[in-house]
Amino acid sequence: MGPRKVVVVGAGMVGLSCAWSLQEYGIDVEVLDRAAVGSGASWGNAGFLAPALTVPLPEPSILRYGIRAVMDRHSPVRLPPRADPELARFLLRLSRNCTTARWSKAMAGYRMLNERIFESFDAQLTDGVRAEVRAADLLAAFTGAAEATGLQHELDGVVASGQQVDVELLTGDQARHAEPNLSEQIRLAMVVRGQRYIDPVAYASALAASVRARGGTITEHLAVSGIQRTAGRIRVSSADGGREADAVVLASGAWLPQLATPHGVRMPQFGGRGYSFTVPLRQPLRSPLYFPAARAALAPRGDRVRVAGVMEFQRPDAPLDPARIAATVRALRPLLAGADWSRIEDQWVGARPLSADGIPLVGPSTTEGVYIAGGHGMWGVTLGPLTGRLLAERMATGSIGPELDWLDPTR
Ligand SMILES: Cc1cc2nc3c(=O)[nH]c(=O)nc-3n(C[C@H](O)[C@H](O)[C@H](O)COP(=O)(O)OP(=O)(O)OC[C@H]3O[C@@H](n4cnc5c(N)ncnc54)[C@H](O)[C@@H]3O)c2cc1C
Repeated sequence: MGPRKVVVVGAGMVGLSCAWSLQEYGIDVEVLDRAAVGSGASWGNAGFLAPALTVPLPEPSILRYGIRAVMDRHSPVRLPPRADPELARFLLRLSRNCTTARWSKAMAGYRMLNERIFESFDAQLTDGVRAEVRAADLLAAFTGAAEATGLQHELDGVVASGQQVDVELLTGDQARHAEPNLSEQIRLAMVVRGQRYIDPVAYASALAASVRARGGTITEHLAVSGIQRTAGRIRVSSADGGREADAVVLASGAWLPQLATPHGVRMPQFGGRGYSFTVPLRQPLRSPLYFPAARAALAPRGDRVRVAGVMEFQRPDAPLDPARIAATVRALRPLLAGADWSRIEDQWVGARPLSADGIPLVGPSTTEGVYIAGGHGMWGVTLGPLTGRLLAERMATGSIGPELDWLDPTR
């Protein structure tokens, strides 16, 4: 028999989706978060739901790019100034996964998930989550053909895995016709058709409202300090005296290792911090925009645009570094016409929960009753609802499909 009462640690896109899907099986849930709902990485991200781009992070070009980037202080990829043994262990393991063979193997797994992403959002929308998911063609823009080879190569790999991708090439003028905010420096663009996007703040809040409306409890501003299994029950420790449950799901994002390591999760993980801000545009962005060379994703937010980017290997709670925002502005200023760079607002930093092999960690841990849902890296918003569905099915029915087998958090 499955659990009757489950505590979920972490009220981000992943934890809330797990709670919501557990409720589909009639399971009583309480979600705990050390801060507010959706205030971790699930807050200021770009909100792209882009199966065409949902691919493993470790691949050969990031090694070449990474080394160049460390030498360049304006680069969108940054390492911390001081040595960090945990980061060294993570980067060593990550670099071992940067081979074409490993990327293709991991991509075969991503393909299985990518085919089910939209259906997992549709299930939430038809069953009580009152949020908007917009269909969109995503525009990737380049200043020249050389800049486009990286994304082209990635999309070739996605197609080689058997996943369908619909791409059209545009000249600079065609690109400006499609998106008038692009500057004259854009000479080439790719339209990636059939993607979607959300406002992640609104979505997480709608998901939380649905969990509550179905009888779940969400307790904010309560940090979980440890998980033990005693006498067949799970004890969740926190400052208010803690609670007991039949099972727990650890969905604490970039903070996952603190709670999950004692339960057999050995895969090195680290926070890949990203920055975002909003800026007003002369005319609203027509669809999501991606500048691969600047590593920046832009999403429409009314008459403003949210700009998200940067990969900074740093502890998740370190303060925001304004230099990272300045570097993104410097990179985008020549590419985006009509942005008022003097009116930047909503500056934010958040930590992508990266796993060293680029594959999420979802499934049972080595402790009975302790389940893991994390390590989604660049794509936790996109993959959150499907993660919830797969994990809830496993917990409620015991069934393990090929997807969960691949995501085994104790690998
Ligand atoms: C700049 C940027 C842009 C991005 N763009 C996209 C995008 O376009 N599309 C996409 O799919 N993904 C994107 N991502 C990635 C995505 O944001 C993350 O993968 C996703 O939000 C991870 O969700 P999560 O629920 O695992 O983690 P989080 O949202 O970080 O949630 C974890 C929660 O756990 C809580 N917590 C931690 N420790 C404890 C504890 N001990 N006790 C209680 N609570 C605890 C935290 O407070 C937090 O609320 C982007 C990320 C960044 C940084």
